[in-house]
Amino acid sequence: MISQHIHKEILLEYEKLADDAKRKLELKKEICYRKCPRIKEIDDELNTTAIKLSKAIINANKIDKDKYLEEIRVLTENLKLEKKKLMKENGFLDGYFKDVYVCDKCKDTGFIDNKKCSCYKQKLINKVYDMSNIAEIIKTENFSSFSMDYYDKEIDEQNGMSPYENMKYIMRRCSIFIEDFDSKFKNMVFYGDSGLGKTFLCRCIAKELLDKGKIVLYVTAKNLFEMFEKEKFNKDDEQIDNQILQLTKEADLLIIDDLGTEFITSLSTTELFDIINSRILLKKSTIISTNLSSDEISRNYSERIVSRLYGEYEMIKFFGRDIRIIKKLKI
Ligand SMILES: [Zn+2]
Repeated sequence: MISQHIHKEILLEYEKLADDAKRKLELKKEICYRKCPRIKEIDDELNTTAIKLSKAIINANKIDKDKYLEEIRVLTENLKLEKKKLMKENGFLDGYFKDVYVCDKCKDTGFIDNKKCSCYKQKLINKVYDMSNIAEIIKTENFSSFSMDYYDKEIDEQNGMSPYENMKYIMRRCSIFIEDFDSKFKNMVFYGDSGLGKTFLCRCIAKELLDKGKIVLYVTAKNLFEMFEKEKFNKDDEQIDNQILQLTKEADLLIIDDLGTEFITSLSTTELFDIINSRILLKKSTIISTNLSSDEISRNYSERIVSRLYGEYEMIKFFGRDIRIIKKLKI
């Protein structure tokens, strides 16, 4: 089964990461111990106290145990303080032993207390959607390389400002969105004609938040609705698609790109509403991009969805000339 295959692949990756981390840690220890042998003594002592501690918890009676635990606590604390002091004196920074892990939260095991770590979930998403592709694309195309040159500076009568001014405003909204991501729950709909940079901005935001260690799920509406269809016939929770569907609710950021290109059924709109609504209740941010106009959005989707979008999302309009065409003309 594909899903088992993917999980196996991920576990193998963790094994490799853990091996790498172990090797790096050994090397770092060697360097550190050679420079200051007392630190090795402290580490050894800390290890033995940890063993003593677990033995004590099993054996001793209540009064002895408390006294003993307190002794060990004080001893451990002193050792740790001494180690910290020695590390500093010998020029080793605070996180010296820590940065061997790609994910410090689960120490590259993929699990915390038997639950999947956020890095595992992101790996799953990456496997299925090859999101690393996005990371690849954004290496050369990102916020800093985003060119405003293609946006007209002439005022658009209908919108009361120039596409250039509008784009500047949108860029500002996006950077605030990224900066405030941890403290503010916020949703956006990017709407307007195609070729104005909506997908590109979605990817930029995805990349920035991936770099911050957030779980980001980027999915096209077409893919999402296909998953709804498949789920109808296979409710198995082990299915990758179903796990991804679960993540549409759990991910720190969900980006649904190209809403309006999917095949709409009444079942799929119910599911879409369910995702949008769950995320609002969980206060998890969502970005939706669509080539539909606001009128078309209202016409195509159920009233429940439309009212959530207008009530809980900032509607950000893109307008101007298709920059892909302008780019081609210039070349
Ligand atoms: Zn992790």
